Amino acid sequence: MRPKRIHGEYSRVSWWTTEYETLRSAHATPLTRESAPLLAGALAELRGIRGLTVEWGYPYGRGGGKRGRPWIGLPRDQMMPGFESLGGLRVGLVLHELAHAACFQFQVGANHSRDYVRELDRLLREWKAIA
Ligand SMILES: [Zn+2]
Repeated sequence: MRPKRIHGEYSRVSWWTTEYETLRSAHATPLTRESAPLLAGALAELRGIRGLTVEWGYPYGRGGGKRGRPWIGLPRDQMMPGFESLGGLRVGLVLHELAHAACFQFQVGANHSRDYVRELDRLLREWKAIA
């Protein structure tokens, strides 16, 4: 049986992750605007993502490469519990976008492919270790 889709995450990412409980809890954990870049920076360092740029004002989050560098775009507003699907700043969103930046840096994986989910799972294990 397929595991349930995680609120605030794509179906196939929810199905393919090996860190289902961690991903579920990451999407349910709000982040402040102050702590989001600190978390992104710490995880980027642990994963070897070099020269990460963080930009603001993207309603649903974006991630990948911009001007040849790994990049994420984040929403300004903190997620309201229960409203993950409307976007909003939370751990799960930062990790989701950071996995896109990792795929850009290491040149693996199309968006939300199995290679992408492997990168996301690595970040989830790092978050679990430092959270
Ligand atoms: Zn994505």
